Amino acid sequence: MLKHTRVTDPEVYELAVEELHRQEHNIEMIASESTAPLEIMELSGSIFTNKTLEGYPGKRFQAGSGVADKLEKLAVERAKALYGAEHVNIQVYSGSTANYSVYATILEPGDRVLSMRLDQGGHLTHGSAANWLSKVYHYEFYGVDPETGGIDYEALDKKAKEFQPRLIIAGASSYPRLIDYEKIAETAKAVGAYFMVDMAHVAGLVAAGAIPSPIPHADFVTSSTTKTFCGARSGMIFCKEEHAKKLDKGVFPGCIGSMHLTTMAAKCWSFRYAQSEEFKAIMKQVLVNAKLLAEELKKRGFDLVGGTTENHLMVVDLRSKNITGKLFQNALDTVGITVNKQQIPDDPASPLVTSGVRIGVTSITQRGLGGAEIARIAEIMDRVAAAPEDETNLAACRADAEALISAFPLYPAGSFDD
Ligand SMILES: *Cc1c(COP(=O)(O)O)cnc(C)c1O
Repeated sequence: MLKHTRVTDPEVYELAVEELHRQEHNIEMIASESTAPLEIMELSGSIFTNKTLEGYPGKRFQAGSGVADKLEKLAVERAKALYGAEHVNIQVYSGSTANYSVYATILEPGDRVLSMRLDQGGHLTHGSAANWLSKVYHYEFYGVDPETGGIDYEALDKKAKEFQPRLIIAGASSYPRLIDYEKIAETAKAVGAYFMVDMAHVAGLVAAGAIPSPIPHADFVTSSTTKTFCGARSGMIFCKEEHAKKLDKGVFPGCIGSMHLTTMAAKCWSFRYAQSEEFKAIMKQVLVNAKLLAEELKKRGFDLVGGTTENHLMVVDLRSKNITGKLFQNALDTVGITVNKQQIPDDPASPLVTSGVRIGVTSITQRGLGGAEIARIAEIMDRVAAAPEDETNLAACRADAEALISAFPLYPAGSFDD
């Protein structure tokens, strides 16, 4: 691995080795993570990095762009076919840049936007006070019904009618349910708002046809290409043909400079891989594993926000276990299970402490873990929650977690022996 860096910069090389070891020996359950196939690694570090170019195929600002034109056209065709979309822009650098680009395309400073609040499951780039966008646009928020954990669609509709937003955003970072895109689209139509869906977390599940697609219902669909999509660190935006020209201008020159050809090549590979039976089977199993883990945790007295999961993640409300999100995250980290602390809706605890954790199953499903292993993970989690500061307990849990994950290699043996 990294045969040149190994010689010229052993310090960085050692950190990469350490990180590989960490990923191999831990049970990675951060809901926004997945394992990139080796081809993504190759292409993300490929020769394409040397090429600077701006603009679109046939209309570049730099010479020598013929190969890049072929690559971008191929990626665009594959992306449109995969998602059945009328138009796609794949020049954005990430899910965040994808969102900024849509705002730049359709909004003026001061415009009103209705989105899901951060602590209810939304994302920083949907107008959180901590994000710079909150200084530019006027955000109002909708949330979930405290009884069901699902979006309160009636309250959303009512708020939209009062607030008259120019844009309504759906899509979330920490929401374990399916979203009724059709319903929110109706509200958007009724108030004359644009409708944008941010499918960053679920783009892989959507591509595989494992859950319903937002593409037919939204004016714009943004996404990152990591998370369930299992691809490069990058982004993409789909839209209806009527918005295509405006969107492309909003992306470049509106928001970005030169494009990243390396991740474009990796995305191009992913758009093909996502149509394979292998990928579809993994995404189906992600749904099965998430449901299984939810059941196994509930059996052991854990509460889930909304009581269940319909996608790749769940949010555990830890109050019944008398433990904070921060303490549980840290104790699980000690035993080699990686999750993140997470605010539950209307959380009484601060964002740095929290009353919950968010757990995802994409990475472990890619590694081949199934029913028997899922039950063992839930059992270890329960033992950790019972005595999160007892070192003997944590050491025993650590040994069990390590024994469990070692049987499922992160990458095929020898992948990095060069
Ligand atoms: C992760 C995420 C993003 C940001 O994507 P990056 O690629 O990390 O910039 C945007 N929106 C949602 C809903 C996300 O979950």
